[in-house]
Amino acid sequence: MKTAVIRETGKPVEIEEREEPKAGVGEVVIEQKFTGICYRDVLTRDGFFPRLSLPIVPGHEVSGIIREVGEGVEYFKKGDRVSSLIYVPCGHCENCISGNENLCQYKKTLGENLDGAYSKYVRISERSLVKVPDGVPEELSTIAACVTGMVIHALDTCGNIKEGKRVLITGAGGGVGAHAIQIAKAYGAEVMAVTSSEWKKEQLYKLGADHVISSGEGFSKKVKEIWNEGAHIALENTGDATFSEAFRSLSFGGRMVVVGNLKPASPGLPLGILILKGNSIFGSISSTRYDLERALNMSARGKIHAVVSNEIKIEDVNEAFENIKAKKNLGRVFIKF
Ligand SMILES: [Zn+2]
Ligand SMILES: [Zn+2]
Repeated sequence: MKTAVIRETGKPVEIEEREEPKAGVGEVVIEQKFTGICYRDVLTRDGFFPRLSLPIVPGHEVSGIIREVGEGVEYFKKGDRVSSLIYVPCGHCENCISGNENLCQYKKTLGENLDGAYSKYVRISERSLVKVPDGVPEELSTIAACVTGMVIHALDTCGNIKEGKRVLITGAGGGVGAHAIQIAKAYGAEVMAVTSSEWKKEQLYKLGADHVISSGEGFSKKVKEIWNEGAHIALENTGDATFSEAFRSLSFGGRMVVVGNLKPASPGLPLGILILKGNSIFGSISSTRYDLERALNMSARGKIHAVVSNEIKIEDVNEAFENIKAKKNLGRVFIKF
């Protein structure tokens, strides 16, 4: 099977012919129709993750049909349709047993310490899996862990989203933002989308945004013109480029939830505002199996639609990375096997 491999960071991803994997103890082999290309994969290739084990198969958005079941697998059988977390939790630490496995300090991440999703067949521990309910389109089961489940964790678990809350979403035209708009609307929130790409604005309204504004200097003023009291939640998808203005857009008691950091940097934080307005800042990492289930159920009920930019062949992955960096896509780019 054709497999994408990072041998050296900063160099193009290589395409190799590899044997299909065999399921080890407690593991299954999944046949995928798609995997998503995540900005994190681009950062991985570019060398932003120092603990990367090389060579490595990148990618971490796994779903499909179980084709082989290893020894000791208890809860899954051949033919089950499943979706996977982007990591394998240890299953035993304090965070794992309290349902916060996204915070497992011993977890191994696909595409970083474990071979990832950029091949048709993927080997994975059953500890990472949930069954996919009927009625979920394949693209949505693929992004249930890294995109929609992650957003549910950020907006609900960290942001305490409720009906009628005002939610600001930066990087709204990206793969995460485009789905976050829909999820916030499904919770009954009022949504303001922030984008740096003028051409994406109309589409963001179509996805359900109540307001769409341009990022760029001083955009918090624009937010306050529309929402006098500011945003209850700011979902920060880009990082340094928008962090300060998103933070200044918060209401008294408002929460900032940071999920994206496209250009690793340390934005300044006005501590006076943090104290006076009683704001909170959350880092939200990935999703738990509970989030994954919530995302899949929301998908099955038609509350979320996959925003597909385009589907590519695995041979074209380097070109796809460059297009993503140049912000040429609205929504997710998928590799089709
Ligand atoms: Zn991802
Ligand atoms: Zn653990």
